[in-house]
Amino acid sequence: MKKIEIDGLLEGIARRLRSRGLRRTRALDLLLREMADCEHPVTIQELAQCPALCEQCDPATVYRLLMKLEEHGMVRRLGLHDRAAYFILVVPGRHHDYLVCTGCGRIEEVDMECPVRSLEQKLEKASGFRHVYHELEFFGICPGCHDGRERHGSAHCC
Ligand SMILES: [Zn+2]
Ligand SMILES: [Zn+2]
Repeated sequence: MKKIEIDGLLEGIARRLRSRGLRRTRALDLLLREMADCEHPVTIQELAQCPALCEQCDPATVYRLLMKLEEHGMVRRLGLHDRAAYFILVVPGRHHDYLVCTGCGRIEEVDMECPVRSLEQKLEKASGFRHVYHELEFFGICPGCHDGRERHGSAHCC
């Protein structure tokens, strides 16, 4: 994302936060900027280790801020919720779908044209809904886990 886009996005989020009576703090600003900067899903650990945020707050605060943003629909949570949760900023008009490994919890963007767009348009027509959108996560076993499993399997004959 270009700097000007990031500024616009963060302004929009700040406005929405204000209208819901949420305080805009320095830590929150830094967190949002960091997430807008890296553009891919990040874990709480990764965020908490970012130098600018480290100075400003502890991991517990990062977690609390993320939960608040998720609650208000500004951040999307991805991945295996119990083990490895990833977070990404919600950018209006833009989305990615994701592949999640149920073995190790790693996550990657689906690198194909989204097949759901035409379905969305049909849905809008049929239902009268406007601004229809979707968020998809596909689950499976990643190549790393798959190979490991096969090697592991061949070492045992039972
Ligand atoms: Zn895996
Ligand atoms: Zn999609």
